[in-house]
Amino acid sequence: MTDEAEALCADCGLCCNGTLFVSVAVDEAAATRLRVRLPVVDTSEGPVLPLPCAGLEGVRCRLYPDRPDRCRTFVCELRRDLEDGRVSSDDARRLVDATRALAASVATRLPVGMAWWTALPKLERARTELAPDRLELLAAIEELARRIRTRFWQ
Ligand code: SF4
Ligand code: SF4
Repeated sequence: MTDEAEALCADCGLCCNGTLFVSVAVDEAAATRLRVRLPVVDTSEGPVLPLPCAGLEGVRCRLYPDRPDRCRTFVCELRRDLEDGRVSSDDARRLVDATRALAASVATRLPVGMAWWTALPKLERARTELAPDRLELLAAIEELARRIRTRFWQ
């Protein structure tokens, strides 16, 4: 863990805001502890924190010292590349900023609450019939998906 990597995460939040994942799995002990502060949802596979996380304030986690283990241990590919010296701090920050901007732009053009990974296959199936603005949206989602798959998901 480096200061540069910690600083990158402190200005990112993509793994908390619903861009990378739909939820964070938590164990029963963490769920009990967190329920007083955050909405924890019980699923057939156990309790989860739905994302965007209600613990996120801007790009920062407001319960950082008490965050669940999955949040504590998750390291995206980009952060790993930074820690291992495969990407510079400046390039990592540029990629985070550009990806945050692209994700925000996509989100404003989707129905409220619809994730990009839900919209992508629908738009791909209708590609030949899409109006120009929908084709632009599809291109933006494809670029977002490419970045996330190649630079963030492990
Ligand atoms: S997506 Fe990566 S860089 Fe961004 S906050 Fe999560 S671990 Fe840190
Ligand atoms: S608890 Fe904190 S670190 Fe975990 S998803 Fe929520 S905001 Fe992110």
